[in-house]
Amino acid sequence: MQQEAQQVVVIGGGVVGLASAWWLLEAGYRVTLLEQAPTVGSAASARNGGQLSYRYVSPLADAGVPLKALQWMFQEDGPLRFRPEADMRQWRWLAQFLANCNSADNARTTAKLLELGELSRQSMAQLELKLPLSEFSWRDAGKLVVYRSKSAFDKAVAKPGSEDNRVVLNGAETAKLEPALAELAPSLAGGIFNSGEAVADCQAFCLALEKRLMAHPRFEGVVHAEAHTIFAENGRVSAIQTNAGWLAADHFVLAAGIQSRNLAATAGIYLPMYPLKGYSLTAPIGAEHCAPEISVTDFERKTLYARIGGNLRIAAMVDMVGEDTSIDRRRIAGLTKLARATMPHAADYDKAEPWAGLRPATPNSAPIIGATKYPNLWLNVGHGPLGFTFACGTANLLATLMRGKQTPFTLDCLALAA
Ligand SMILES: Cc1cc2nc3c(=O)[nH]c(=O)nc-3n(C[C@H](O)[C@H](O)[C@H](O)COP(=O)(O)OP(=O)(O)OC[C@H]3O[C@@H](n4cnc5c(N)ncnc54)[C@H](O)[C@@H]3O)c2cc1C
Repeated sequence: MQQEAQQVVVIGGGVVGLASAWWLLEAGYRVTLLEQAPTVGSAASARNGGQLSYRYVSPLADAGVPLKALQWMFQEDGPLRFRPEADMRQWRWLAQFLANCNSADNARTTAKLLELGELSRQSMAQLELKLPLSEFSWRDAGKLVVYRSKSAFDKAVAKPGSEDNRVVLNGAETAKLEPALAELAPSLAGGIFNSGEAVADCQAFCLALEKRLMAHPRFEGVVHAEAHTIFAENGRVSAIQTNAGWLAADHFVLAAGIQSRNLAATAGIYLPMYPLKGYSLTAPIGAEHCAPEISVTDFERKTLYARIGGNLRIAAMVDMVGEDTSIDRRRIAGLTKLARATMPHAADYDKAEPWAGLRPATPNSAPIIGATKYPNLWLNVGHGPLGFTFACGTANLLATLMRGKQTPFTLDCLALAA
């Protein structure tokens, strides 16, 4: 007799929770998705930079970053803001982040994220068979990282990475490859182009995925309610308490973005995560030939520019200000000023729509996937600056782990430390 499929509740309808739900359905589970907001993909996954950055994984913690961070904090429109909190989690995260700021840890995490990036690319390709790319403005745009200072450029050129697809360019060549950078060219030391990186609309991807989930025979629907407590008894999680009642299942997957840390705490689990707030602008494309075709990252300004559908998306900044999603008008004014100076005619900046979101960041920029002290409570959290990029890869890994199968690579740096 065929055994009945086991039931999973996935908590969180962002890009990570939705992708998890899909891979678990494909693995044979019955799945319910729990999402507190009226629509999926409306938190950090809404208006992010849209990069599917499989090779430019670049963990934030690195040698020299603490000093640079101090300098940024004193720049008026600098990429980093820090507001001290009376919350030990901020200080604990900072201490762990600083411990990761060295070349050896950076190299180890980069190597792992490159493996995860490649799996994510393959997993996205599998999914694309079921999701028409046009539904979420997917484009094989390639990625061009541009450097204003010679020292940063030389360091990037010397850094080992995936060499196969990268092309190193001087300032003039950079502007020739991407004419939208013509105004910036005289102040550029150079650029590194990586073909094979893509760009897409993350929120549209979430909605397209939800549609496919709804049509899956083992999908049991989206419950729109807020999870309050994870309830464990006899060494297992038996139910989740929500504002709409209790939800029981065989397995539970925590994929609630930054709010995962509060939920995990209700089960006595500490997640080393902190919200790194970022901003984006979405502005209609201006003069067609002045808008970038390639997705551009301005390395020193920590700003990225991507054409998504008929819009230019500009994303940037890291504000360490707790779980505060308000839009700081001064930050938006600074970002608009920078975009106007960098690509003056690429978009109609007067019509730009501002947005802010919280990157659910771990101290080493690597997501946390897998088991907890409860054998039926699973994590898929902490995707930080690259959650769209890694969502399909980590969902695939999670489903592999839950079925007790061997993952394609070891999960050191990606598992919750004991
Ligand atoms: C400015 C900016 C630019 C970015 N650019 C890129 C980029 O170019 N490429 C890239 O790969 N990544 C990028 N990111 C990162 C990416 O957006 C995130 O890593 C990703 O969206 C995280 O997805 P998530 O599903 O974990 O979290 P979320 O999208 O935040 O989803 C979590 C969901 O859980 C729900 N939830 C939370 N708590 C509960 C609860 N108690 N009960 C029920 N539901 C709950 C929330 O409502 C939410 O819908 C960027 C982020 C920012 C802020």
